[in-house]
Amino acid sequence: MYDYLIVGAGLFGAVVAHELTQQGKSVLVIDKRSHIAGNVYTEQTEGIHVHVYGAHIFHTNNTAVWQYVNQFAHFNRFTNSPVANYKGELYSLPFNMYTFNRMWGVVTPEEAAAKIAEQRKEITGEPRNLEEQAISLVGRDIYEKLIKGYTEKQWGRDCKDLPAFIIKRLPVRLTFDNNYFNALYQGIPVGGYTQMVANMLKGIEVRLSTDYLTHREELNGLARKVIYTGALDALFDYRLGYLHYRSVRFETELLDMPNYQGNAAVNYTDRETPYTRIIEHKWFEFGKDEEGNDLPKTIISREYSSEWKPGDEPYYPVNDEENLSLYAKYRALAEENPKLVVGGRLGDYKYYDMDQVIASALQCSEGLLSDF
Ligand code: UDP
Repeated sequence: MYDYLIVGAGLFGAVVAHELTQQGKSVLVIDKRSHIAGNVYTEQTEGIHVHVYGAHIFHTNNTAVWQYVNQFAHFNRFTNSPVANYKGELYSLPFNMYTFNRMWGVVTPEEAAAKIAEQRKEITGEPRNLEEQAISLVGRDIYEKLIKGYTEKQWGRDCKDLPAFIIKRLPVRLTFDNNYFNALYQGIPVGGYTQMVANMLKGIEVRLSTDYLTHREELNGLARKVIYTGALDALFDYRLGYLHYRSVRFETELLDMPNYQGNAAVNYTDRETPYTRIIEHKWFEFGKDEEGNDLPKTIISREYSSEWKPGDEPYYPVNDEENLSLYAKYRALAEENPKLVVGGRLGDYKYYDMDQVIASALQCSEGLLSDF
């Protein structure tokens, strides 16, 4: 009998497994996929670590979390600076002086601020949705060219029907600074995320290709408590209805050329291009293999966003009121079961970044200290 069965070998599950093992607990980790690392999984092809479930760039302001992950990997100095392609016009992201100069020809921060102030006037009062929030942050021109199309493709909803907080993830700066994140620490683990998660799980029993939901009775019998990191609606057989998620599909191609787009991420911000962005994986590691040699080929992934339906992989929770209130009902059901602990991006139904997942996994593990 294990102390804990951990369902899901992603970041949340791996951190909790590591911590509980350190505390002398016995754990079994299972995952329905044939690999560990959840959606941060990377796979090496032609010397390139491919981010199979989409780009993951580690960034945090939390020193404790940064020190924590550095036990399991060295991080390179990658800084995310995506480029937006709007019908062939290229703009720097996040919104900064380079963007404002390209958009309006303004040269000084004062001119840029005046332009934004003039355009933001159309929003009076507290922004009620993403559209109003975006216009109030950067004005209508930037909203129309760099936000509206991209956001509507990514979320499959009108910007007027999306919560304002999503766009607050993006910094707006009156400096020449293309660093997408306002983070003290940032980088990509050398050797790939899969290796990092494998280091977390070192010495821990992991059973892959094991689906909890279809074998739950026998699996529950193996442990005193279950830590579940999957979707909560699925755990309860959707009995209260479906939670909404966005799913993502990747079209990945190996190209016989050294450089396709000159950057790790290019966002296609118009409405017509069917994909949201193209990731060129080699640039997360400066185009080099592990020995420091230039790579002759490249791998790109076009990212297509879609509404999740049963059978798809859920990626992003849709945090609108309707879904949050349904989630709260599922959460209450989960809390009726004293043997069950729920966590992670899917379990908590939150738009977590990796550092937030790790912080919450550390907190969860601490809370379990007094269990037995
Ligand atoms: N966003 C945008 N234009 C861009 C990039 C992002 O409008 O070129 C907005 C969009 O609303 C998106 C949000 O910012 O949903 C967060 O995007 P990001 O790419 O940071 O999210 P990720 O998919 O990487 O979690």
